[in-house]
Amino acid sequence: MKFDCEKCGKMDEALLNGYDFGERTLEEVWFRVKKHDNGTCEVYPEDPKELHGLDQKYWLAQAKDFAEKNDVFTCPSCKGQVVPDDML
Ligand SMILES: [Zn+2]
Repeated sequence: MKFDCEKCGKMDEALLNGYDFGERTLEEVWFRVKKHDNGTCEVYPEDPKELHGLDQKYWLAQAKDFAEKNDVFTCPSCKGQVVPDDML
C-alpha cells in the first residue's frame, strides 16, 4: 500500500524515526518503511552505517514491529506526517 502526504502526494516508502522505539540509542537514526496490504512491513535503515556497532537484527525487528503497529510516519521529502492511504 502507499503512503499519503498532504503536500507531496502518494509514495511507496515512508520514514520512521528510530527514536520512536529505540529512544536515545537510535536518536537521529531513520528507517525506510514499506507497508504491504496485509499490514506487514519491510523496514531497512536509511543509512546502514548508523547501525554500526549495534545489534542490527534486534533493532530491525523492533522497527518492523513498531511500523506494523503504527500508522503515522514521516514524509521523506517534506518531513511532514504521512499515513497509509487506506486510512483516508
Ligand atoms: Zn511530504
